[in-house]
Amino acid sequence: MEQTKNERVYNFSAGPGSLPLSVLEESARQMTNFNGSGMSVMEMSHRGSYFMEIARDAEATLRRVMGVPDNYKVLFLQGGASTQFSAVPLNLMKSKADYVVSGEFSGKAFKEAARYGDAACIATSAETNFDRIPAFTKKDLRPGTDYLHICYNNTIYGTRYPGVPDTGDVTLVADMSSCIMSEPVDVSKFGVIYAGAQKNIGPAGLTVVIVREDLLGSARPETPTMLDWKVQADAGSMYNTPPCWSIYVAGLVFHWVEDMGGVTEMKKRNEKKAALLYETLENAPLFKLHAQKDSRSLMNVTFRTGDPDMDKLFVSEAAKIGLVTLAGHRKVGGMRASIYNAMPYEGVAKLCDFIQDFSKKYAK
Ligand SMILES: *Cc1c(COP(=O)(O)O)cnc(C)c1O
Repeated sequence: MEQTKNERVYNFSAGPGSLPLSVLEESARQMTNFNGSGMSVMEMSHRGSYFMEIARDAEATLRRVMGVPDNYKVLFLQGGASTQFSAVPLNLMKSKADYVVSGEFSGKAFKEAARYGDAACIATSAETNFDRIPAFTKKDLRPGTDYLHICYNNTIYGTRYPGVPDTGDVTLVADMSSCIMSEPVDVSKFGVIYAGAQKNIGPAGLTVVIVREDLLGSARPETPTMLDWKVQADAGSMYNTPPCWSIYVAGLVFHWVEDMGGVTEMKKRNEKKAALLYETLENAPLFKLHAQKDSRSLMNVTFRTGDPDMDKLFVSEAAKIGLVTLAGHRKVGGMRASIYNAMPYEGVAKLCDFIQDFSKKYAK
């Protein structure tokens, strides 16, 4: 057990990640009696007027924040991003599908698609331990492919696409679990965007799927009903009981993003935080960055000393001053600082001070 803390820490967890304090406080205020309903959001019928309004407002706010065009459906589902690894081929693959494998999750998505048909990996950076987004163009896509799947931000390795790849007429599908709402994206360039909520949206248990309407209605016959996007769209994401509490808190986060100035302001803040952290690490002789410069993530910053014992010491010393969950994923080792929307600049600045002190103390 970790020592009991009386104050909140700066939590650099990759997911579930930290949430805006004001959102936590607001949900706490409403915990036992939502808006004079006399009950908690966790206790109310998902078909009653209180919750229907919560869900409607959450969707409307997300649409405004992300600029989701009218010809897209927004679905609030369960099962995490990992369930969408199956739903994507089940809903979209008629003959074949292409995948870019840029890390752990895109690898899993590719593997899952291969269970249903002819899936091909058209580009990968596996040979350099996913330290970059692999280069590819639309010429690398197979003729007649039903879609290209990418993972826009690679949470474990700390890389991100520098821009939306041009796939011509081929439907682009993106896992945006760890970068959704971190910067403006042109939704119209994608056929499908999906994201597990627990990184940049809200509590675990909710998965957001944004899908262009013309892609609905051609799921393969064996598709489980719950994974058929058309069924979910027609039922307003309430084919069964939705993750009510997670949708409610996600709605508060969508409002928080909007009130802060929207995704344009989020990008500004995220770039400022990431620039400070990358620059500090580049100038601290003890540390090496994992991601190549032109593929660096704004959300997950991966670095190491090269000595696993030193890495461990870094993580435990940092925790002592309230900088927690900095251990890297076991596939990369070292450290990872996840600096999602809710991480304040002050948290990153404190981490940077610690990095400098640690480097001075231990660099030879
Ligand atoms: C965390 C993560 C996943 C897995 O999400 P679950 O909701 O746990 O299934 C998939 N893709 C990316 C990019 C992630 O960061």
